Amino acid sequence: MKMRVPFNDLKKHHELLQPALGEALQRVIAQTAFIRGPEVDQFEKEFAALVGVRHCISCANGTDALYIGMRALGLKPGDEVITTAHSWIATSETITQAGGRVVFCDTDAATFTIDPADIARKITPRTRGIIPVHLYGQPADMDPILELARKHGLWVIEDCAQAHLAEYKGRQVGTMGDMATYSFYPGKNLGAMGDAGGIVTNRDDLVEWMTNFARHGGKGNHHIEGINSRMDGLQGAVLRVKLPHLRRWTELRRQVAANYDRALLGVGDLELPTVAAGRSHVYHLYVIRTARRDALRAHLTAAGVDTVLNYPKALPFYPAYAYLGHQPADFPRAAHHQDRILSLPIFPEMASEQQQHVVDSIRDFFARP
Ligand SMILES: *Cc1c(COP(=O)(O)O)cnc(C)c1O
Repeated sequence: MKMRVPFNDLKKHHELLQPALGEALQRVIAQTAFIRGPEVDQFEKEFAALVGVRHCISCANGTDALYIGMRALGLKPGDEVITTAHSWIATSETITQAGGRVVFCDTDAATFTIDPADIARKITPRTRGIIPVHLYGQPADMDPILELARKHGLWVIEDCAQAHLAEYKGRQVGTMGDMATYSFYPGKNLGAMGDAGGIVTNRDDLVEWMTNFARHGGKGNHHIEGINSRMDGLQGAVLRVKLPHLRRWTELRRQVAANYDRALLGVGDLELPTVAAGRSHVYHLYVIRTARRDALRAHLTAAGVDTVLNYPKALPFYPAYAYLGHQPADFPRAAHHQDRILSLPIFPEMASEQQQHVVDSIRDFFARP
């Protein structure tokens, strides 16, 4: 029988967590604590402790986390927020939703993360903040970003949706900016069984506002007009079952990555992920580059190996941002990468035969003329 390698195996992931998962869900059903409730309260405490910050404010998803954060920081119409050309659109669409103007920056050639030199060029008197994304699981180059923010009086929100537990010079992501946002979408390194998200921060002054804003402006008393962005009790319970496994899962992802690194080195024209000095990668995604990307992808599909493009285009080149009038030359590195990147299957439960099948299929492709 031909082997199939899924991009991720959430079925296996959840089977291995039984019976604890079923028990946790039953507990929530017995309590009828379906929206927030004790499991969510506990999860907020446990997640803040894991990241090493004072507060975690849970919300409905990682996109809302960004929106709530920017509203808390008081974004006003016409304010500019700088972010990377290479991310999921949640990072930039929320800038617009919060009333700001999106200013894209090019990426670093080696790590796909935002290029601090380009941030420096894009700062204007209207700039209010910077949102670096720790893309694919590798931290952005935070020291020069934080230095620019200090110098110009800007806030920093770290988008940690793909980077739970990654480190920059010994500091965990999520601890360096004014706040950080996390997604617990099912396929993220720590995922719920539906949508869920959170904001972490050491900014005591913003906690009450964000907590109220995410719950219609406050429970019992509407201090402000807010939104409805609450975590489900069931998701809180699922996340609490999963949290103690996150370090081990991260280690397993690193082992798969190390295996790919060894087995794919020097194959064809492949460029493998590089980890910059002082940074630790948690491999939410393992992204290779090749000039023959589309042909390789078709070959892998035929061989039963699922791959994904993260993302098919750099953000400035989607129709949603046509109004900005950008050309590929405005973001030469992001534009170059968009046609060459390919995400290979990587997940903690990935069997060695599955990893070998991915490697063999790639070698097979490049061995042909
Ligand atoms: C997943 C993701 C988000 C949004 O998270 P959701 O929970 O899906 O709303 C934001 N930013 C990045 C970089 C992401 O990968």
